[in-house]
Amino acid sequence: MQFILLGEPGAGKGTYASVLIRKFQIPQISTGDILRSAVKAGTPLGLQAQDYMKKGLLVPDQVVIGLVKERLKQADTAKGFILDGFPRTIPQAKELENLLQEVGRPINAVLKIEVCRKTLIERLTGRRSCKSCGAGYNVNTGLPPKKAGVCDKCGGEIIQRADDQPATIENRLNVYQKETAPLVEYYEKEGLLKRIPCEGPLDEVLKRFEKASLAAVASSK
Ligand code: ADP
Ligand code: ZN
Repeated sequence: MQFILLGEPGAGKGTYASVLIRKFQIPQISTGDILRSAVKAGTPLGLQAQDYMKKGLLVPDQVVIGLVKERLKQADTAKGFILDGFPRTIPQAKELENLLQEVGRPINAVLKIEVCRKTLIERLTGRRSCKSCGAGYNVNTGLPPKKAGVCDKCGGEIIQRADDQPATIENRLNVYQKETAPLVEYYEKEGLLKRIPCEGPLDEVLKRFEKASLAAVASSK
């Protein structure tokens, strides 16, 4: 199974990806995560990407495409994968199509996470993560760490992403509208788009998401 998760920054793509990872035993490929670890490690890729990311701008297509191309060569993608945060532009989508055609692994479904702007901002401004193990938390939406500032899982320090500051959030939402939103129509035309309403209490939304993803799989060729 090959999935694309589509949705605004803050829609919760990472959270929903974990449902698919469990259900289908396939890896999540998050270009944001790959880029963030490159920045942290100070690799040439990271140095190239960090200014864009800090400002909430997209990293150039060729950089991200090269990175996904490399990742898809790894053996754990043999049973399928979940693309989270990629593609984010029409050129990325077209390049992906070429890549997957070469290996005979088409996308089965594009799951579009639908939430309103108010929810996005609430989720983005509340988002925190563990500096050591990467565990995710949210101080606005009922998922705070048990002890403020400390990771439940490993005791590590809880931090906020550099690009989750209000000014950058605004930028990211605008960039999404301009660059990424056209993908909705693009995949709708290809008959791959499944819209999943994701407002409401997390446990209910997760159930709804799981059901919708199974239905998408059942109806895919
Ligand atoms: P979010 O979806 O919450 O904005 P991500 O973790 O997916 O967060 O991405 C963080 C940042 O990484 C983006 O703002 C952008 O700078 C960069 N990035 C991630 N994926 C891509 C991509 N496919 N194309 C260009 N830039 C990307
Ligand atoms: Zn931790």
